[in-house]
Amino acid sequence: MLNIILFGPPGAGKGTQSQKLIEKYGLVHISTGEILRINIAEKTPLGIEAQKYIDHGNYVSDAIALEIVMNEINKNIPCNGFVFDGFPRTTPQADEFTRILGKYNSEITVLISLEVDEETLVKRLSNRSEKSNRPDDTCDQIIKKRLTIYENNTKIVKNYYKKLNKYQSINGLGDIDKIFSDICKVIDNICKN
Ligand code: ADP
Repeated sequence: MLNIILFGPPGAGKGTQSQKLIEKYGLVHISTGEILRINIAEKTPLGIEAQKYIDHGNYVSDAIALEIVMNEINKNIPCNGFVFDGFPRTTPQADEFTRILGKYNSEITVLISLEVDEETLVKRLSNRSEKSNRPDDTCDQIIKKRLTIYENNTKIVKNYYKKLNKYQSINGLGDIDKIFSDICKVIDNICKN
């Protein structure tokens, strides 16, 4: 299986690049944020619980994030593999995730980190708020908070995959297709070996 973690701060372009990856490599997209938003829209018990956190820019619990991912893997396996978008976001999530994939005799192929500077991220997220109706994008204060939480809690997840020799970083600035081709080069290089 080809299991890719697309990593990066809010606004890095994970959703856009995930879409292109699943098409090219025939993978299943698992976005924990997207699944949470569907649950919020449908007012499921999970959605009602999660909304309290998400609207204020906070993370849902590791237990909730892990349960979502486990369900999605279960639903879709067997398949060519997955693109994990917005997960894992904490080191405990990464640790438990290794165990979950192990149960399927599988593992992460690579974590690809999209590198984008903070000024660009803020601009992109404010622009996105005009097109999408994500409450967490509308207010500058909440955008800043999400970027801070990323800096404090999520950035370190890179180290977990660095130690496993599964970390690759890509410049997330510039042309979408150029970024995509850089991502594909990384993947094709790994698959060749
Ligand atoms: P973004 O990358 O722009 O923050 P996402 O769609 O990935 O957008 O996530 C939206 C929100 O959903 C996050 O701010 C967080 O509250 C929640 N969320 C998504 N994934 C996780 C996760 N793995 N752990 C905890 N909270 C999560």
